[in-house]
Amino acid sequence: MTKQSLSKVGFIGAGRMATALAGGLISSGFTTKDHVCASDTYEAASEKFAQETGARSVSSNQQVMEQAEIIILSVKPQQIPDVLQEIKSSVTSQHLLISIAAGCPLSLFLDTLGEFTRMIRVMPNTPCLVKQGASAFARGGQASTEDATLVESLLSTVGIAFEVPESQLDAVTGLSGSGPAYIYQVIEALSDGGVRVGLPRQIATQLAAQTVKGAAEMVLQTGEHPGTLKDAVTSPGGTTIAGIHALEAGGLRNSLMNAVSAATSRSIELG
Ligand code: NAD
Repeated sequence: MTKQSLSKVGFIGAGRMATALAGGLISSGFTTKDHVCASDTYEAASEKFAQETGARSVSSNQQVMEQAEIIILSVKPQQIPDVLQEIKSSVTSQHLLISIAAGCPLSLFLDTLGEFTRMIRVMPNTPCLVKQGASAFARGGQASTEDATLVESLLSTVGIAFEVPESQLDAVTGLSGSGPAYIYQVIEALSDGGVRVGLPRQIATQLAAQTVKGAAEMVLQTGEHPGTLKDAVTSPGGTTIAGIHALEAGGLRNSLMNAVSAATSRSIELG
């Protein structure tokens, strides 16, 4: 398949995630706005998608199937069965189907569409909306290594992405899928701490958020172990080790590990 044909991307469901992904695909040069289309049952969503991305909105899911080869299923999980019934007779081996619907297993798609389908299931997270997503994906049916590479580069336009076996997607849900909410709690708590010691709220929240962002960039850009970076900023008898001792007493690391574990278990239960 040529790059030209691969870059025709269609979204079924033109909501927040579709708009963010389409924006990333176009601004990164992965494809052009003329090669992107979307359909939505809610007209206001289609219009907003077209306005924000410059891409086309079309009037039916069927038209998306006809005009694109990479089809991104971006409706809510409960709407997936209806969409599959609607498109199943149009799916061919020329289509690569990508689902971003949380908790919908590959078997749900392949049972309806057939084992020949080139299908990839993605677990994205909310920061995709600001091009800082952390996603993982698993392939099923006839999806090839080339398809996986394509999906990795597609998701990389809104963050980072890794291929994993489908059995690990519950763990991904527990870590990066649910993780932004854990970090919002951390930021809120750091801000509260700042206010407790006399900082104005607005400054405290900005300092807290930027500190989390900066520390994350240090890990990602240096490739150092987080423990090594922590050691580098804890001088003997200093302020940071005093703070870390307090975190240890409060069980921060244990709490975060339990959070990932509890969310993973819940994802398995819901699946
Ligand atoms: P959204 O509600 O903003 O968008 C979904 C759109 O689908 C709506 O505009 C709705 O009108 C449309 N729709 C409903 N039925 C349809 C149909 N039959 N045909 C065509 N369009 C239809 O939702 P979202 O936040 O963009 O989430 C989309 C998917 O992404 C969900 O499955 C969700 O689980 C997944 N996801 C979202 C996030 C996130 O951060 N928002 C994170 C992880 C996963």
